[in-house]
Amino acid sequence: MTAHSSPSTSRGFVSLVGAGPGDPDLLTVKGYRVIQQADVVVYDRLVSPEILSLASTKAEMIYVGKKLDYHCVPQEQINQILVDKALAGNKVVRLKGGDSFIFGRGGEELEELAEHDIDFEVVPGITAAAGATAYAGIPLTHRDHAQSVQFITGHIQKDGREIEWHSLAQSNNTLVFYMGLKQSGYIEQQLMSNGIDQQMPCAIIENGTRREQRVLTGKLSELSELATQAVSPALIVVGSVTSLHHKLKWF
Ligand code: SAH
Repeated sequence: MTAHSSPSTSRGFVSLVGAGPGDPDLLTVKGYRVIQQADVVVYDRLVSPEILSLASTKAEMIYVGKKLDYHCVPQEQINQILVDKALAGNKVVRLKGGDSFIFGRGGEELEELAEHDIDFEVVPGITAAAGATAYAGIPLTHRDHAQSVQFITGHIQKDGREIEWHSLAQSNNTLVFYMGLKQSGYIEQQLMSNGIDQQMPCAIIENGTRREQRVLTGKLSELSELATQAVSPALIVVGSVTSLHHKLKWF
């Protein structure tokens, strides 16, 4: 393994690091190293304390935690913090849950850095859909069940753009909804009215990869009912692969 460090420049440098879904051991080796070397760590709510504790005691830790529908610190201000800390010459780690490019606004933050000519790198993380299903014993694809998988935001209609329900429902994919708990009734109704069988197995994985992980399973017609028993963070998985949970659960 080659340990190459981030380029050092007087203008500072930003590493956009995905912390993985919860279990701190799922951080990448590269993520581990850049966190240890950081002068400043700007982090979100879903990052585990074990991962934060990897930072040097001299590092400045800035919490910009995000909750569903509510941002502790507005996005523009987060962008400004990153720009200011980098321009001051720091090695900045921007630490996010899962993978920064999957529903993580990583792209938006990098665009801002690019506009200010600030150098950056991206350290990928294990996204919740991959981590939580692995720990739940639900293979996202399987030759007998699903040939593809789709990751979908449950923040539906937020910016006026509706999901293509018809093509989703016809696709025979595994469907993974992020941030979908509150919209579970709508998701259930749209999928069924666009042709998915109400008996289609589905699962809700709550606190995936964490010690408190819980997997609720049922039929699509029971999805919104299941969701009332679940807490955030949780993923909704729709597809026959979820029936394998009972056979393959291990965690
Ligand atoms: N960038 C993150 C996703 C951020 S959106 C990633 O790649 O995973 C936040 C949503 O991710 C939550 O609402 C939930 O749907 C999902 N999520 C994050 N961590 C999770 C976990 N440990 N278990 C289940 N779902 C999780």
